[in-house]
Amino acid sequence: MSSPMSSPTSSYRPIPPTWVGLEPAQADGRACVICGHSYVVGYEYPPVPVGRAHATGATVMACASTCTPAARARVA
Ligand SMILES: [Zn+2]
Repeated sequence: MSSPMSSPTSSYRPIPPTWVGLEPAQADGRACVICGHSYVVGYEYPPVPVGRAHATGATVMACASTCTPAARARVA
């Protein structure tokens, strides 16, 4: 029960959360994983990386300030 070998995630370094069931644009980091907003060139609020897509391994994004809290709460 207290075996140190049974806990591979015991590092202090946080593991990037993995997202599943995303739309292609979301899984590619081109759209918000929460609200689905598309991050076109020149978007006034730079998105924040909130993890990785399970399907593609790409970094996924959420709207800074508005959707980031929800994203972090969902995968916490
Ligand atoms: Zn959003």
